[in-house]
Amino acid sequence: GVPIALHIFFFQAVASPPSSNFLLLGPSGAGKTAFTTLLEAKSSLASNKSHSTHTSQQSTLVTVTLPPTVPTGSNRYRSVNDPSLKEATRNPIKYRVRDTPGHGKLRASQGIAELQAMSQSKDIKTRLRGVVFMVDTAALVDEATLRDTATYLHDVLLFLQKRAKNGSSSKRTTDIPVLVAANKQDLFTALPPGAVREKLEAEIDRIRKSKTKGLLDASADTELEGEEEILGNDEQEAFSFKLLEHEVGVKVDVVGGAVKGDLQEEFGSGVRRWEEWIGMCL
Ligand code: GDP
Repeated sequence: GVPIALHIFFFQAVASPPSSNFLLLGPSGAGKTAFTTLLEAKSSLASNKSHSTHTSQQSTLVTVTLPPTVPTGSNRYRSVNDPSLKEATRNPIKYRVRDTPGHGKLRASQGIAELQAMSQSKDIKTRLRGVVFMVDTAALVDEATLRDTATYLHDVLLFLQKRAKNGSSSKRTTDIPVLVAANKQDLFTALPPGAVREKLEAEIDRIRKSKTKGLLDASADTELEGEEEILGNDEQEAFSFKLLEHEVGVKVDVVGGAVKGDLQEEFGSGVRRWEEWIGMCL
Protein backbone atom coordinates (compact mmCIF):
# COMPACT_ATOMS: atom_id res chain seq x y z
CA GLY A 1 0.00 0.00 0.00
CA VAL A 2 2.79 2.45 0.78
CA PRO A 3 4.30 2.79 -2.71
CA ILE A 4 0.86 3.44 -4.25
CA ALA A 5 0.05 6.04 -1.62
CA LEU A 6 3.38 7.74 -2.32
CA HIS A 7 2.67 7.74 -6.04
CA ILE A 8 -0.67 9.38 -5.46
CA PHE A 9 0.94 11.91 -3.14
CA PHE A 10 3.61 12.86 -5.68
CA PHE A 11 1.12 12.95 -8.52
CA GLN A 12 -1.10 15.32 -6.58
CA ALA A 13 1.82 17.47 -5.56
CA VAL A 14 2.90 17.85 -9.18
CA ALA A 15 -0.55 18.18 -10.69
CA SER A 16 -2.15 20.65 -8.33
CA PRO A 17 -1.87 24.36 -9.11
CA PRO A 18 -1.35 26.82 -6.26
CA SER A 19 -4.70 26.60 -4.57
CA SER A 20 -4.27 27.74 -1.02
CA ASN A 21 -5.33 31.29 -0.46
CA PHE A 22 -4.46 33.62 2.36
CA LEU A 23 -5.94 37.03 2.93
CA LEU A 24 -3.76 39.84 4.20
CA LEU A 25 -5.63 42.39 6.31
CA GLY A 26 -4.76 45.17 8.72
CA PRO A 27 -4.63 48.95 9.00
CA SER A 28 -2.67 50.94 6.44
CA GLY A 29 0.95 51.47 7.29
CA ALA A 30 1.23 48.07 9.00
CA GLY A 31 3.51 46.69 6.28
CA LYS A 32 1.17 44.62 4.08
CA THR A 33 2.54 45.90 0.79
CA ALA A 34 6.10 45.49 2.01
CA PHE A 35 5.30 41.91 3.08
CA THR A 36 3.75 40.86 -0.25
CA THR A 37 6.63 42.49 -2.11
CA LEU A 38 9.15 40.60 0.06
CA LEU A 39 7.37 37.27 -0.40
CA GLU A 40 7.32 37.78 -4.13
CA ALA A 41 10.98 38.76 -4.20
CA LYS A 42 11.90 35.66 -2.20
CA SER A 43 9.87 33.50 -4.58
CA SER A 44 11.30 35.01 -7.73
CA LEU A 45 14.78 34.57 -6.31
CA ALA A 46 13.98 30.88 -6.03
CA SER A 47 12.57 30.61 -9.55
CA ASN A 48 14.72 33.24 -11.30
CA LYS A 49 11.67 35.19 -12.34
CA SER A 50 11.39 38.92 -11.98
CA HIS A 51 8.73 40.30 -9.73
CA SER A 52 6.41 43.22 -10.07
CA THR A 53 6.24 46.17 -7.73
CA HIS A 54 3.16 47.11 -5.79
CA THR A 55 1.62 50.19 -4.39
CA SER A 56 -0.73 50.36 -1.44
CA GLN A 57 -3.52 51.48 -3.78
CA GLN A 58 -3.86 48.25 -5.74
CA SER A 59 -5.43 44.99 -4.67
CA THR A 60 -2.98 42.27 -5.55
CA LEU A 61 -3.06 38.49 -5.65
CA VAL A 62 0.46 37.13 -5.66
CA THR A 63 1.56 33.54 -5.98
CA VAL A 64 4.48 32.79 -3.72
CA THR A 65 6.64 29.83 -2.84
CA LEU A 66 6.95 28.36 0.62
CA PRO A 67 10.65 27.83 1.43
CA PRO A 68 11.29 24.06 1.22
CA THR A 69 12.66 24.00 4.78
CA VAL A 70 9.36 25.26 6.20
CA PRO A 71 7.27 22.24 7.24
CA THR A 72 3.63 22.04 6.25
CA GLY A 73 0.74 20.79 8.36
CA SER A 74 0.24 17.76 6.12
CA ASN A 75 3.92 17.07 5.68
CA ARG A 76 5.99 17.37 8.85
CA TYR A 77 9.38 15.94 8.09
CA ARG A 78 11.78 15.33 10.91
CA SER A 79 15.23 15.12 9.39
CA VAL A 80 17.11 16.43 6.38
CA ASN A 81 17.06 12.88 5.04
CA ASP A 82 13.30 12.78 5.03
CA PRO A 83 12.04 12.15 1.47
CA SER A 84 9.33 14.79 1.85
CA LEU A 85 12.00 17.48 2.30
CA LYS A 86 13.65 16.40 -0.95
CA GLU A 87 10.28 16.48 -2.63
CA ALA A 88 9.57 19.96 -1.24
CA THR A 89 12.93 21.18 -2.60
CA ARG A 90 12.27 19.75 -6.06
CA ASN A 91 8.67 20.77 -6.19
CA PRO A 92 8.11 23.71 -3.83
CA ILE A 93 4.70 24.35 -2.40
CA LYS A 94 3.01 27.46 -3.66
CA TYR A 95 0.25 29.51 -2.14
CA ARG A 96 -1.48 32.76 -2.89
CA VAL A 97 -1.73 35.93 -0.87
CA ARG A 98 -4.32 38.62 -1.46
CA ASP A 99 -3.31 42.03 -0.23
CA THR A 100 -6.13 44.45 0.54
CA PRO A 101 -5.63 48.09 -0.35
CA GLY A 102 -7.54 51.17 0.65
CA HIS A 103 -7.30 54.02 3.08
CA GLY A 104 -9.12 55.50 6.00
CA LYS A 105 -12.63 54.39 6.76
CA LEU A 106 -13.01 52.42 3.56
CA ARG A 107 -10.26 49.89 4.07
CA ALA A 108 -11.91 47.96 6.90
CA SER A 109 -15.13 47.45 4.95
CA GLN A 110 -13.16 46.56 1.84
CA GLY A 111 -11.17 44.03 3.82
CA ILE A 112 -14.29 42.52 5.37
CA ALA A 113 -15.96 42.35 1.93
CA GLU A 114 -12.92 40.52 0.58
CA LEU A 115 -13.00 38.17 3.55
CA GLN A 116 -16.67 37.48 2.90
CA ALA A 117 -16.13 36.75 -0.79
CA MET A 118 -13.10 34.53 -0.27
CA SER A 119 -14.50 32.57 2.66
CA GLN A 120 -17.71 31.79 0.80
CA SER A 121 -15.99 30.26 -2.17
CA LYS A 122 -17.51 26.86 -2.88
CA ASP A 123 -14.52 25.82 -4.94
CA ILE A 124 -12.05 23.86 -2.85
CA LYS A 125 -9.28 25.21 -5.09
CA THR A 126 -9.89 28.80 -4.11
CA ARG A 127 -10.94 28.34 -0.55
CA LEU A 128 -9.48 30.56 2.11
CA ARG A 129 -6.94 28.80 4.34
CA GLY A 130 -6.13 31.61 6.71
CA VAL A 131 -6.12 35.30 7.48
CA VAL A 132 -2.95 37.24 8.20
CA PHE A 133 -3.82 40.39 10.15
CA MET A 134 -0.81 42.67 10.17
CA VAL A 135 -0.15 45.28 12.84
CA ASP A 136 2.53 47.91 13.34
CA THR A 137 3.74 47.07 16.85
CA ALA A 138 5.52 50.42 17.21
CA ALA A 139 2.28 52.32 16.55
CA LEU A 140 0.05 50.54 19.10
CA VAL A 141 1.13 52.77 22.00
CA ASP A 142 -0.98 55.45 20.35
CA GLU A 143 -4.54 55.19 21.76
CA ALA A 144 -6.28 56.06 18.50
CA THR A 145 -4.21 53.57 16.49
CA LEU A 146 -4.87 50.84 19.07
CA ARG A 147 -8.61 51.54 19.01
CA ASP A 148 -8.65 51.59 15.21
CA THR A 149 -6.63 48.37 14.90
CA ALA A 150 -8.66 46.52 17.55
CA THR A 151 -11.96 47.60 15.96
CA TYR A 152 -10.86 46.22 12.61
CA LEU A 153 -9.66 42.95 14.18
CA HIS A 154 -12.87 42.69 16.21
CA ASP A 155 -14.93 42.93 13.02
CA VAL A 156 -12.81 40.30 11.27
CA LEU A 157 -13.15 37.91 14.22
CA LEU A 158 -16.88 38.55 14.56
CA PHE A 159 -17.32 37.67 10.90
CA LEU A 160 -15.38 34.42 11.41
CA GLN A 161 -17.40 33.65 14.54
CA LYS A 162 -20.70 34.04 12.65
CA ARG A 163 -19.34 31.91 9.83
CA ALA A 164 -18.27 29.18 12.27
CA LYS A 165 -21.72 29.20 13.91
CA ASN A 166 -23.65 29.06 10.66
CA GLY A 167 -21.87 25.95 9.46
CA SER A 168 -24.31 23.08 9.90
CA SER A 169 -22.95 19.77 11.14
CA SER A 170 -23.71 18.08 7.81
CA LYS A 171 -21.89 20.69 5.78
CA ARG A 172 -19.06 21.59 8.08
CA THR A 173 -17.27 24.80 7.33
CA THR A 174 -13.52 24.49 7.45
CA ASP A 175 -11.70 26.55 10.01
CA ILE A 176 -10.10 29.82 9.00
CA PRO A 177 -7.39 30.59 11.57
CA VAL A 178 -6.00 34.09 12.10
CA LEU A 179 -2.37 35.10 12.42
CA VAL A 180 -1.80 38.47 14.05
CA ALA A 181 1.53 39.31 12.42
CA ALA A 182 3.18 41.61 14.99
CA ASN A 183 5.33 43.51 12.48
CA LYS A 184 8.21 45.97 12.88
CA GLN A 185 9.86 44.11 15.74
CA ASP A 186 13.14 45.63 14.51
CA LEU A 187 12.14 49.04 15.90
CA PHE A 188 13.22 49.59 19.49
CA THR A 189 9.89 51.27 20.24
CA ALA A 190 8.03 48.11 19.18
CA LEU A 191 5.87 46.29 21.72
CA PRO A 192 6.79 42.61 22.08
CA PRO A 193 4.20 40.09 20.78
CA GLY A 194 2.97 39.23 24.28
CA ALA A 195 2.18 42.87 25.02
CA VAL A 196 0.54 43.26 21.60
CA ARG A 197 -1.73 40.33 22.42
CA GLU A 198 -2.67 41.81 25.82
CA LYS A 199 -3.33 45.27 24.41
CA LEU A 200 -5.51 43.94 21.59
CA GLU A 201 -7.43 41.64 23.93
CA ALA A 202 -8.08 44.43 26.43
CA GLU A 203 -9.16 46.86 23.70
CA ILE A 204 -11.45 44.27 22.06
CA ASP A 205 -12.95 43.68 25.50
CA ARG A 206 -13.75 47.40 25.75
CA ILE A 207 -15.28 47.37 22.26
CA ARG A 208 -17.37 44.34 23.21
CA LYS A 209 -18.59 46.00 26.38
CA SER A 210 -19.67 49.18 24.64
CA LYS A 211 -21.40 47.08 21.96
CA THR A 212 -23.31 45.06 24.57
CA LYS A 213 -24.37 48.26 26.26
CA GLY A 214 -25.54 49.66 22.92
CA LEU A 215 -27.62 46.55 22.27
CA LEU A 216 -29.17 46.69 25.72
CA ASP A 217 -30.09 50.34 25.28
CA ALA A 218 -31.57 49.68 21.85
CA SER A 219 -33.73 46.80 23.00
CA ALA A 220 -34.79 48.25 26.35
CA ASP A 221 -37.78 46.01 27.07
CA THR A 222 -37.60 43.52 24.21
CA GLU A 223 -35.57 40.31 24.13
CA LEU A 224 -31.87 40.78 23.66
CA GLU A 225 -31.76 39.52 20.11
CA GLY A 226 -28.24 40.55 19.43
CA GLU A 227 -26.87 38.26 22.09
CA GLU A 228 -25.15 35.94 19.65
CA GLU A 229 -23.47 38.93 18.06
CA ILE A 230 -21.08 39.32 20.98
CA LEU A 231 -17.57 38.26 20.11
CA GLY A 232 -16.51 35.27 22.19
CA ASN A 233 -20.08 34.74 23.49
CA ASP A 234 -19.32 34.90 27.19
CA GLU A 235 -19.59 38.54 28.17
CA GLN A 236 -19.07 37.83 31.85
CA GLU A 237 -15.51 36.78 31.22
CA ALA A 238 -12.89 39.24 29.97
CA PHE A 239 -12.18 38.81 26.29
CA SER A 240 -9.15 36.79 25.27
CA PHE A 241 -8.14 34.94 22.11
CA LYS A 242 -8.17 31.75 24.21
CA LEU A 243 -11.81 32.43 25.12
CA LEU A 244 -12.64 32.90 21.44
CA GLU A 245 -10.99 29.61 20.53
CA HIS A 246 -12.67 27.81 23.38
CA GLU A 247 -16.14 29.29 22.82
CA VAL A 248 -16.38 29.41 19.01
CA GLY A 249 -13.37 27.55 17.65
CA VAL A 250 -11.76 30.53 15.93
CA LYS A 251 -8.02 30.29 16.49
CA VAL A 252 -5.81 33.38 16.79
CA ASP A 253 -2.01 33.37 17.09
CA VAL A 254 0.12 36.45 17.74
CA VAL A 255 3.59 36.06 16.26
CA GLY A 256 6.33 38.69 16.05
CA GLY A 257 8.37 39.48 12.98
CA ALA A 258 9.85 42.18 10.77
CA VAL A 259 9.52 42.73 7.05
CA LYS A 260 12.27 45.33 7.10
CA GLY A 261 15.13 46.32 9.33
CA ASP A 262 18.61 45.13 10.13
CA LEU A 263 17.51 42.49 12.62
CA GLN A 264 17.41 40.17 9.67
CA GLU A 265 20.61 38.18 9.53
CA GLU A 266 19.64 36.90 6.13
CA PHE A 267 17.18 37.98 3.48
CA GLY A 268 13.63 37.47 4.65
CA SER A 269 14.42 35.74 7.93
CA GLY A 270 12.27 38.24 9.83
CA VAL A 271 9.16 36.69 8.29
CA ARG A 272 10.19 33.07 8.83
CA ARG A 273 7.83 32.42 11.73
CA TRP A 274 4.89 33.76 9.73
CA GLU A 275 5.82 31.42 6.88
CA GLU A 276 5.88 28.60 9.40
CA TRP A 277 2.37 29.53 10.49
CA ILE A 278 1.26 29.57 6.84
CA GLY A 279 2.97 26.22 6.31
CA MET A 280 1.00 24.69 9.17
CA CYS A 281 -2.25 25.70 7.42
CA LEU A 282 -1.24 23.86 4.22
P1 GDP B 1 0.58 48.88 4.17
O1 GDP B 1 -0.19 50.16 4.14
O2 GDP B 1 0.06 47.95 5.23
O3 GDP B 1 0.66 48.20 2.84
O4 GDP B 1 2.05 49.25 4.66
P2 GDP B 1 3.40 49.38 3.78
O5 GDP B 1 3.84 48.05 3.30
O6 GDP B 1 3.17 50.44 2.76
O7 GDP B 1 4.43 49.84 4.90
C1 GDP B 1 4.30 51.08 5.57
C2 GDP B 1 5.67 51.57 5.99
O8 GDP B 1 6.23 50.73 6.99
C3 GDP B 1 6.67 51.57 4.84
O9 GDP B 1 7.45 52.73 4.94
C4 GDP B 1 7.51 50.33 5.09
O10 GDP B 1 8.82 50.45 4.58
C5 GDP B 1 7.52 50.28 6.60
N1 GDP B 1 7.72 48.91 7.12
C6 GDP B 1 7.07 47.78 6.76
N2 GDP B 1 7.51 46.73 7.47
C7 GDP B 1 8.46 47.19 8.32
C8 GDP B 1 9.28 46.57 9.34
O11 GDP B 1 9.24 45.37 9.62
N3 GDP B 1 10.13 47.39 10.02
C9 GDP B 1 10.24 48.73 9.75
N4 GDP B 1 11.11 49.44 10.47
N5 GDP B 1 9.47 49.33 8.82
C10 GDP B 1 8.59 48.59 8.11
